[in-house]
Amino acid sequence: MLPEVSSLWLLQLLRDIQLAQFYRPILEELNVTRPEHFDFVRPEDLDGIGMGRPAQRRLVEALKRYRSGLKPKKWVYKILGSFTPEQKETTSPSDSPPCPPEPEGGLKCLIPEGAVRRGELLGAGCFGVVHRGLWMLPSGQSVPVAVKSLRVGPEGPMGTELGDFLREVSVMMNLEHPHVLRLHGLVLGQPLQMVMELAPLGSLHARLRAPAPTPPLPVSLLCLFLRQLAGAMAYMGARGLVHRDLATRNLLLAAPRVIKVADFGLVRPLTGARGRYVMGGPRPIPYAWCAPESLRQGAFSSASDVWMFGVTLWEMFSGGEEPWAGIPPYLILHRLEKDRARLPRPPLCSRALYSLVLRCWAPHPADRPSFSHLEGQLQEAQPPEGRCVRDVMETGALRMEVGDPITIIEGSPDSTTWKGQNGQTFKVGSFPASAVMVTDWPATRPVHRGSGERHRGNANGDRAKAKLQDLPPARDQRRNMPLPMMKGISKSLESVLSLNPRPTGGGSSPPELRRARAVCKGPPVLPPCPPFASSSPSQVSQPPREQPSWPKREPPHNHPVGAPGASKATVPSGGLLSDPEVQRRVMEVELSVHGVTHQECQAALRATGGDVVSAIRNLKVDQLFHLSSRSRADCWRILEHYQWDLSAASRYVLARH
Ligand code: ATP
Repeated sequence: MLPEVSSLWLLQLLRDIQLAQFYRPILEELNVTRPEHFDFVRPEDLDGIGMGRPAQRRLVEALKRYRSGLKPKKWVYKILGSFTPEQKETTSPSDSPPCPPEPEGGLKCLIPEGAVRRGELLGAGCFGVVHRGLWMLPSGQSVPVAVKSLRVGPEGPMGTELGDFLREVSVMMNLEHPHVLRLHGLVLGQPLQMVMELAPLGSLHARLRAPAPTPPLPVSLLCLFLRQLAGAMAYMGARGLVHRDLATRNLLLAAPRVIKVADFGLVRPLTGARGRYVMGGPRPIPYAWCAPESLRQGAFSSASDVWMFGVTLWEMFSGGEEPWAGIPPYLILHRLEKDRARLPRPPLCSRALYSLVLRCWAPHPADRPSFSHLEGQLQEAQPPEGRCVRDVMETGALRMEVGDPITIIEGSPDSTTWKGQNGQTFKVGSFPASAVMVTDWPATRPVHRGSGERHRGNANGDRAKAKLQDLPPARDQRRNMPLPMMKGISKSLESVLSLNPRPTGGGSSPPELRRARAVCKGPPVLPPCPPFASSSPSQVSQPPREQPSWPKREPPHNHPVGAPGASKATVPSGGLLSDPEVQRRVMEVELSVHGVTHQECQAALRATGGDVVSAIRNLKVDQLFHLSSRSRADCWRILEHYQWDLSAASRYVLARH
């Protein structure tokens, strides 16, 4: 067979060092077609094709000579070679210079393109698609795998996607932990493909949201998952890495009782004496999961991962609910910092566990427990298991039959009524303690009574005094927001302080989430303070604009047009909604003002007789007013100063809190 023109360089190079016999194995088994592909080849790979170590040394030397005559290409090996931190990454002045961990060599395995067969699509991410696949080993054995393929070709520009993809490879190839998703190897083809361990049961988030008849995950299993997660995160922290995207959507179920941490695209090395990574570039972040310091300064550390762990725990015990659903991103920071609000205790979560979560949400990173500490604490907070010893059929009590396994969520040896979950029916409720026999009361388990949900500080003197006030309203009390908007609010990966029109969608559906991530926003940089005197708002100067006649309609009965409360009124269907011009304007307003509902836009347009600019301005004033303790007049002036850039104005008022 004649060599391909594109690989003649290889044949020539090998001939020069009398290793031409390795041309085909290198080409076909190692899939090397370009000089830079050798950056992925490890001595073990060359051993595998029968090349001895002296020959390997000759090859390395020849490659060096060959490359010195070539202008290096910018891509893959630059990142994979040394896992460099992001170009724009900064460290705070007190931090010492970055010292990223060195990879321990090349890839675990280079996989020839032909050895992987892709099957059904499992999902799509920010920079690639994931397929189920089969990896045929040289022995003939086939291994089920997941194959993530990069969307852009390796010759493409050095974009965020390629960088994240390669960073993910770079991180994964050095990780080996029972609860961290394993990378089997890389296919150096077009496109680049990551061959990973398959998690056949999909993401934990999807499992938590699975509708009936799929049974809910029992509390005892959730507690097991938490311990697995804490262990994996302690491992990552010990390797000097921060995950930055911890959430149930990024935990995969490898088996019914085994989770694995996945999605390492946002992982970064911790740098400096303070072990932090500070975002320097305009990269989006999953704000509803983020610690205040990440939202405010773009600062990430193991402690911010611990905060995210708390949010992930909350998701798990809330059946995969969205944290802070319905709360606009900038208000999340406001609530966390100013109101000291925290996500409420889910009913399935014991008080002991919740007090641990509150410690994860301590305002000051240093007050949060470490992952290794958490591992021990989670062991202690593990709810005891018991067996039902007599049938309980009383109304109001948790029903159980003799022999049913019962998990005790709340209870102590000296209380007569306990709360627990029946492992047979998955129902949760209270029952007489005498109906269950428990064999493993942990001696150290704290007894929680009364308002045990308040954070009491830890033995090390936590500064946190998290108040449980001003919690987000219960689901059914939330404003009547259209579903796509609510999804976009808490799951799109944009910076919390960047209030440009958010991407629509982006909820639990991974592809939308990726789209949102691709819309990179500026880092949360706080602006300088402009001099504002408090005075009444100046009149809005309207740009000349053709105003098509706004459809006149009867005000709804209980909410007169423009009256307070109209923004929350249910807009009746009929002529107004069906008019395409009105729809267009509502859309325009909605896209221009972050965090407003469809109804609020309609009401604002009604109040301004259909004038889009005024409606947008009024809504922006409203938004800023709710965000700060300033008067509407001040808000108006601040917005005017920032040329109606709500993002900039919000940063200004937030900086002054
Ligand atoms: P992003 O990478 O943009 O943060 P993501 O984690 O959802 O988002 P991917 O890692 O590309 O994106 O995964 C896409 C989908 O494929 C996810 O829904 C995930 O559940 C599924 N998936 C990813 N890896 C595996 C795997 N190893 N086994 C099974 N399913 C997987």
